[in-house]
Amino acid sequence: MSSITAEPAQAVRELFIDGEFVAADTGETFIDVDPSTGQALAEVSAAQPSDIARALRAARSAQPAWAARPPRERGQVLLRTAEGIRALAEELAETESADTGKPLAQAKADVAIAADYFEFYGGYADKIYGDTIPLDGNNFAFTFREPVGVTGHIIPWNYPMQISGRTLGASLAAGNACVLKPAEEAPLTTLTLARILRDAGAPPGVVNVVPGLGASAGAALASSDEVDHISFTGGIETGRKVMAAAAENLKPLTMELGGKSPSIVLDDADLARAVPVITKALVQNCGQTCSAGSRLIVQRSRHEEMLERLTESVGALRVGPGLEDPDMGPLITPPQRERVMGYIEVGKEEGADLVAGGGSLDGSGNFVEPTVFDGVTTDMRLANEEVFGPVLAVLTVDDDAEALRVADSTDFGLISAVWTRDVDRAMWLARHLQSGQVYINSYGAGGGVPLPFGGYKRSGFGREKGLEAINEFTQVKTVALSVTTPDER
Ligand code: NDP
Repeated sequence: MSSITAEPAQAVRELFIDGEFVAADTGETFIDVDPSTGQALAEVSAAQPSDIARALRAARSAQPAWAARPPRERGQVLLRTAEGIRALAEELAETESADTGKPLAQAKADVAIAADYFEFYGGYADKIYGDTIPLDGNNFAFTFREPVGVTGHIIPWNYPMQISGRTLGASLAAGNACVLKPAEEAPLTTLTLARILRDAGAPPGVVNVVPGLGASAGAALASSDEVDHISFTGGIETGRKVMAAAAENLKPLTMELGGKSPSIVLDDADLARAVPVITKALVQNCGQTCSAGSRLIVQRSRHEEMLERLTESVGALRVGPGLEDPDMGPLITPPQRERVMGYIEVGKEEGADLVAGGGSLDGSGNFVEPTVFDGVTTDMRLANEEVFGPVLAVLTVDDDAEALRVADSTDFGLISAVWTRDVDRAMWLARHLQSGQVYINSYGAGGGVPLPFGGYKRSGFGREKGLEAINEFTQVKTVALSVTTPDER
């Protein structure tokens, strides 16, 4: 194993193409801003369409040899990548925290989870089996799972390390070569990850990381005929554009688009256990999480008690710069803060009761208060639209059937939680909720590395995480074989 090498200090953080850090063709750069201070954090090369084409060519030429490597060796590269991430965990977490504004403890958890993804998929690289299919006695059929070829990965700014880990880990294990475009708001750790992958033995061209602007670099990747699959995580509007661009070349996609995820609290729930988890699900990454717990659906008889506990819990949260490790950091950009403050106004105008927060904080960072609206009804925008900030909509219901109806009343269906001590009620809801994941008496499972993740309805389609992701990044070849019997020979 080669050891992790330090990159000479770069005035500009460059693109990683074909195993090397290089400037963009045009020399263009953009400024990456620290959301806690509003100050410049780094100057980063801005990939142009010609750079994306270069990265795709490098991936195309490297992919066959990568796919031909014994699967165990591919797995070992990923396992060494996991070690490399862990060796640089401190540095990666500090960079992730500064770049995204998330509290340092959350950034540390993200880095640990990214390493876990590479370990999970590294261990699976030599276990990607096909099926045998029973036919009649003289005919045999079986399947191979083959890589799709070159995969494009367009990722957002909220979880650069985690999302890179899950999407690159699965694709590389399956024998693909990858081109990853991080978000312009938070590209830094993905470039360090490229170096770790290189030092762990990923051959030149197998992994390329090309920061740049969505409208140029992202659009060039989505519309290229040289990409064989696109994995997109981000907002619905951009998702629509990416899908339309990919449709021109009939390219398959995995789309992870966000949600309006409900926590359902039934009348027999253990509130002491539920409230800290529901609070965390609201404010993790300042609510900028596709699976943020942004709706609370509570049964009427526990409503008052729940609200009392919740407002106390939310009111005790510390808000501040990510590197100071508060409970909640800033929003990613000033426009994102305006958007969240806009939704708080919408909530007030719609007649919901503001029971906690509702303000923004002074200073140069994009800080808002964690906010709770009670008295929300299903016809309100606050109950239906993704705010992408720490704003909770509380809705009250009378029974399990109404809880289900309300939970399913949005266009989204990413994750749900059910809080109850009754296994019958929990399982009835789990079976009927329109939701890609359902948690019972929890919300998430330590990063959820082995758990298939993806949306129902407008939350997207396809699955990442777990072994399901391997299906996205492979194609199935069926081979049928006919033999003669001794009588026929
Ligand atoms: P986007 O969906 O625009 O960004 C996701 C990625 O897509 C980024 O890498 C972005 O690049 C890229 N991109 C932007 N435009 C294009 C394009 N035309 N073609 C290809 N790629 C493109 O998210 P935003 O940052 O604009 O956030 C808007 C809203 O989306 C949020 O308020 C939230 O509701 C939702 N969102 C959901 C996320 C999730 O995890 N599901 C994550 C982020 C946002 P660049 O950053 O350079 O623009």
